[in-house]
Amino acid sequence: MPICPGMSGSRKRIWGRVMPDLKMAAAAATKPAPKGAGTPVLSVQNLEAWYGESHILHGVDFNVDAGEVVTLLGRNGAGKTTTLKSVMGIIGKRTGAIRFNDQDITRASSDRIARMGVAFCPEERGIFASLDVRENLLLPPVVRTGGLSLDQIFELFPNLKERLNSQGTKLSGGEQQMLAIARILRTGARFLMLDEPTEGLAPVIIQQIGHTIARLKKEGFTILLVEQNFRFAATVADRYYIVEHGKIIDGFANSELQANMDKLHTYLGV
Ligand code: ATP
Repeated sequence: MPICPGMSGSRKRIWGRVMPDLKMAAAAATKPAPKGAGTPVLSVQNLEAWYGESHILHGVDFNVDAGEVVTLLGRNGAGKTTTLKSVMGIIGKRTGAIRFNDQDITRASSDRIARMGVAFCPEERGIFASLDVRENLLLPPVVRTGGLSLDQIFELFPNLKERLNSQGTKLSGGEQQMLAIARILRTGARFLMLDEPTEGLAPVIIQQIGHTIARLKKEGFTILLVEQNFRFAATVADRYYIVEHGKIIDGFANSELQANMDKLHTYLGV
């Protein structure tokens, strides 16, 4: 049974699957950033955004096609989180054009954007310490049909079932991250924005998160990921965009990763 009704997918346990290898590219990097070959679910053009007087995004352009995993890479403070928050409608001042499933959401409220099927999993995870796992899971409203049932969530994250009555404060970082992802899967959103889901986690948990993302992609979810850990991103991403000083400065497909490795090290300062 697929984890979402009406979708194809393997029942094979996600934790048992082999991590995809880094694909070595033969081709040289191309510029400008590839646009993706399919139907854009999200299209962002000339996005500018501000926190109060602070002008943070200076014309961000990118797109995400249906079923893709697209990763925004960049140094601390480059504007990756601000880009996700702008798409979610939680940055007060933003200009440019943001289109989701061909509808203009540039000035839409976060509530309307969520009801259109967009979900945001923040870097800080947002787990309520005083609530247990079940209460945290059931807290966000289901905004669309097709959200995962609790049984489907437990199939994806067996640990959460075992920890159902544990308080938020008692969870490990990995369990909190799984709970944060599980929570948005209940809502019915099909476009997921995950902000640094691997931050601070042990390698074995990072691998589990990678398997989860791969499984969700297989089930037809479209995912926009923010990561600093490009070694992790390389195991799940179809394409990358590099964010620097509030702009997209480069982009390439996963098949071009190896050819772009030197540039990537420079961009990320690693
Ligand atoms: P990081 O991984 O460090 O979060 P990032 O690429 O996601 O990096 P953003 O969080 O988008 O970067 O931050 C971009 C810039 O906006 C930074 O200079 C940051 O200090 C600033 N900034 C972020 N949040 C706020 C805020 N609430 N008010 C004012 N400035 C902010």
